[in-house]
Amino acid sequence: MNWITNITKKLKPKLSNLFNKKTSTPSDLWTNCASCSEIIYKENIEKNLYCCTKCDEPQQILPRQRFQILFDDGIYTELDTPKLNSDPLRWKDITSFKDKVEAARKKFNQRHAAIVATGNINSVPVVAYCMNQKFLGGSVGVEEGEAFVFACKYAAEHNLPFLAFPQTGGQRMQHSAFALMQMPKSIIGLQMLEEKGLPAIIMATSPVAGGVTASWFYGPSVFVFAESEQTKIMFAGPGVIKRTIGEDLPEGFQTANYLLKKGFVDRIIHRKHHREELSSLLSILLKLDKPSQEIKDESTLETTMDTERSLQTKISG
Ligand SMILES: [Zn+2]
Repeated sequence: MNWITNITKKLKPKLSNLFNKKTSTPSDLWTNCASCSEIIYKENIEKNLYCCTKCDEPQQILPRQRFQILFDDGIYTELDTPKLNSDPLRWKDITSFKDKVEAARKKFNQRHAAIVATGNINSVPVVAYCMNQKFLGGSVGVEEGEAFVFACKYAAEHNLPFLAFPQTGGQRMQHSAFALMQMPKSIIGLQMLEEKGLPAIIMATSPVAGGVTASWFYGPSVFVFAESEQTKIMFAGPGVIKRTIGEDLPEGFQTANYLLKKGFVDRIIHRKHHREELSSLLSILLKLDKPSQEIKDESTLETTMDTERSLQTKISG
């Protein structure tokens, strides 16, 4: 039987290679728009700043993808945020929370659900705090909360404006009261910026829920923007509210467009206009000599000036 064993040994790797050979599958190349469900070629969506090529709706992206398209030439510096115990309550349900954190860290190559970076937007330097909802639901625990304060403090010490991109399900239940403590802490961070007269911009990206909505958005002198009319901003989800009050909710409830009309959101700036509008606004708010280089048409300039006037009123009042 030796000859059979020998042939099997020789053939097995070849057969294995044949059947396990990796090829590009449709899921590697194509994706569905989260808004209109259009099937889009991934390369095209990347070239379109990760917005749908049919309906233009911004798709959910990771912090480093955000920084790549936000900062000049995609150049930015990540800042090391304070390292804290990521499992202070030694939480365990079906699996241990520590294992879940480790798995998320490995998958996304980031320590917690947010990344803090510095970079220039049309030559205007900023500190940016960007969240990843795919990292444990983008929940805010002790490290995410501490990183927020760290980013505010860094911006205040270096005289830089602060820009946050929340994308979160709210406070992390596995951190219990420690997670809730991050809400008032974040207000203290935002106060550091206010005391130095520095602008803080919260740019909501879908979805924003729970404690983040109930804290950052009410911070002192905070400008609340959203990157799309459809951006979801809420405290409790619509199902919970509907069951509690026993009534149908208005159309478009909890979208940025709805909240803009109610005065909760200051302005909707589509992702494709972030660089030109944010740099222009910050240039004027910071009284920089050189205004943004990228205002291309007069209609954009007019709306930007309108926003600047209302924001100047807000920061001075
Ligand atoms: Zn679409």
